Amino acid sequence: KERKKPGLTTVIFIALILGAAAGILIHYFFPEGNLRDNIIVGGVFEVIGTGFIRGMQMLVVPLVLCSLICGSMAIGDTKKLGKVGIKTMAFYLATTALAISIALGIANLINPGVGLDITSVQAQETQMAEASSLTDTLLNIIPKNPIQSLAEGNMLQIIFFALIVGVLLAKRGEKAEGLANLFSQGNDLMMDMTMAVMKVAPIGVFCLIAKTFANIGFDAFVPMLKYMAAVLAALALQCFGVYQIFLKVFTGLNPIKFVKKFLPVMGFAFSTATSNATIPLSIDTLAKKMGVSRRISSFTVPLGATINMDGTAIMQGVAVVFVAQAFHISLTPVDYLTVIATATLASVGTAGVPSVGLVTLSMVFTSVGLPVEGIGLIMGIDRILDMTRTAVNITGDAVCTTIVASQDKALDRDVFNAAG
Ligand code: ASP
Repeated sequence: KERKKPGLTTVIFIALILGAAAGILIHYFFPEGNLRDNIIVGGVFEVIGTGFIRGMQMLVVPLVLCSLICGSMAIGDTKKLGKVGIKTMAFYLATTALAISIALGIANLINPGVGLDITSVQAQETQMAEASSLTDTLLNIIPKNPIQSLAEGNMLQIIFFALIVGVLLAKRGEKAEGLANLFSQGNDLMMDMTMAVMKVAPIGVFCLIAKTFANIGFDAFVPMLKYMAAVLAALALQCFGVYQIFLKVFTGLNPIKFVKKFLPVMGFAFSTATSNATIPLSIDTLAKKMGVSRRISSFTVPLGATINMDGTAIMQGVAVVFVAQAFHISLTPVDYLTVIATATLASVGTAGVPSVGLVTLSMVFTSVGLPVEGIGLIMGIDRILDMTRTAVNITGDAVCTTIVASQDKALDRDVFNAAG
């Protein structure tokens, strides 16, 4: 009898579990040294795991450029585009503000920093982020040189440029058919390449997870368990509560179906801890499994990966309460509002790459006068939380995208409701 091949979700899930198990075994059974650090973990796992992420990163810039030009060309008029843009921004801001509020609420319930013995946690050196002014942040959206934006992968600048090119190409119509076809074929090619890279996903995911666990083990977690529990609880509430309620209320679609179909993307984000690298897979899954038109997702997904980081905001909210408690500093309601505002703004303009949330956290701490050294406390265990919050970050983008697409009549409900 022929057996059914397991789907991508199952395979990625198995790779995650096996990778974690292998990493933990290696951490405890292989002594530190050349074999473990340079050959197995720093060698094989690093080459295959990081190679896999780079394979996906390689596609992000050409994909975003091509698909966004095609998307804005399809929408065509600027008024409609503006409407999509405003709606998307409204959803992104609302979900982020909600996320931090949930985080602050849960952290105040669990009290992760009360009674913490700071000496038991090894503080590490912290990196500071420099806050840029609002004018700079806004001006930075306009590229001085679009080629440089592409070369540097500056997402907001690429989005800005591609939107204008798309709208004007649509205006030129047949006169610019050749160029329009070029971008549209480029878009298809990048989609094919995304699937090609995903072929190695199980091995890539295994190596990435094994590397993480082989490096961290369990010991560092113990004094931090309450902090981790608070972050994870808030992340879960946001991901499986808030988003799914939003989805149900604004679209009437079945949230369980959404989560099931989106799991492989979450698994990818989890193992890579990089929203940016998840863009191609997210757009592809939304199109093929949920019926979301690329004319919407090509715009909202890259935008979300850059400016909408709800999971990151959650970690920052909990970290504020944790460090305040650990250092016996009391926070006022105004401080909490400052945290909500700063954490929301901090995520705008920073790319979705590993650990960036930890760097922008220094901005949040400074805004309410918490010691920046506090970040050193949570650094050692941040990788696991980074992975989890990245999965939440990209789920938020996908839910908002589905809602905006549904309201814009750019969602094929038959595809969404189909099995698989
Ligand atoms: N790694 C996260 C992301 O790419 C950002 C962060 O919180 O550090 O979405």
